[in-house]
Amino acid sequence: MKTRLFTPGPTPVPEETLLELAKPVGYHRSAEAKAILKEVSEDLQYVFQTANPVVTLTSSGTGGMEAAVTSCLAVGEKAILLSAGRWGERWKGVLKAHQANTVLVEVPYGKAVTPDMLAKALADHPDAKAVFATLSETSTGVGHDIEAFGKLVANTPALLVVDGISGLGAMECRCDAWGVDVMVSGSQKALMLPPGLAFVSVSEKARKKIETTPVRGFYFDLRRALAKWAESDTPFTPANTLIKAQRASLKRIRTEGIENLWARHAKVAAACRAGVRAMGLEVFAERPNNGLTVITVPAGLDGSAILKAVEKKHGFKLADGQDNMKGKIWRLSHMGYVDAFDVLAALAALELTLAEVGFGVKVGSGVAAFQQSYAGK
Ligand SMILES: *Cc1c(COP(=O)(O)O)cnc(C)c1O
Repeated sequence: MKTRLFTPGPTPVPEETLLELAKPVGYHRSAEAKAILKEVSEDLQYVFQTANPVVTLTSSGTGGMEAAVTSCLAVGEKAILLSAGRWGERWKGVLKAHQANTVLVEVPYGKAVTPDMLAKALADHPDAKAVFATLSETSTGVGHDIEAFGKLVANTPALLVVDGISGLGAMECRCDAWGVDVMVSGSQKALMLPPGLAFVSVSEKARKKIETTPVRGFYFDLRRALAKWAESDTPFTPANTLIKAQRASLKRIRTEGIENLWARHAKVAAACRAGVRAMGLEVFAERPNNGLTVITVPAGLDGSAILKAVEKKHGFKLADGQDNMKGKIWRLSHMGYVDAFDVLAALAALELTLAEVGFGVKVGSGVAAFQQSYAGK
């Protein structure tokens, strides 16, 4: 049976990228390695829509988050955290581990933090040094209005630090135009690479704050990474095979064009939501993002058992809810190297499985609605 990956990280990797990973390993301080890192950095700037440095760290995405926290905040400094799910809680954990004074602005799972909530928090806490937010909350499918957050934060001394690990490259995000000071991303979501790399952009405002913050990390000290970045180098041995492969995936994005890529994800996401609703199911997120669709498991169904059946019978791997959301939602990723017909097939497999367990869905209804939406009808 053919197996197909629809989890919101890791995601499918394009063939030309996989081929890069099969090549012999080179020396990471060679002129060639530097040229490759330079190219990757420039392509990342394009994907981030920034003229600021974007450093590459050898770690999973959370390493990028840790680098942002330890480099931007001194012990005890105040941070406003906008949390709408498990990945907001990841920020919370990192901030706690590094002794930030966190002001929590939290909404229930499925909801989005609004710009009004941020405006109030900024007014109540003028001494906040940074605002931490999440572009795409992968645990609930919510997308945040980072553009509106950026306008509010720009008027204050605080930095806007965004976890774009699953959002960047799947939904519109313009770091410079929107006033994002630090954007963190990772390789295994919309950027079409296996896990292993984190990327962090640093604005001029953020760089100034970093330079006046006491050093409190070593491996994840952004000062070190920025100094080496200027020479197209890295402070430590990087995962150079992954960097070389990332170049191939980023070229794919450049060839498509970032705006075309955003539009494609938006179109597939809209079609997926239409298909889900036509099947008699509900979209969990009140403000859905375009990287994945999160579906509420209807009352009376064992959500985890159905996902297992979809995988066992049809070979499609969708993601369950995490922690206390397990069994309550299904997460279907459509970010990265996934096209409309891949998603259509995943929806068909879910629809068929639901029909098999006796959920009142007419086979083909979701598929038809998906196609109608995709055709613009
Ligand atoms: C996947 C994900 C992370 C965690 O990244 P790791 O690579 O597992 O460390 C953080 N934030 C968001 C929004 C994610 O989707």
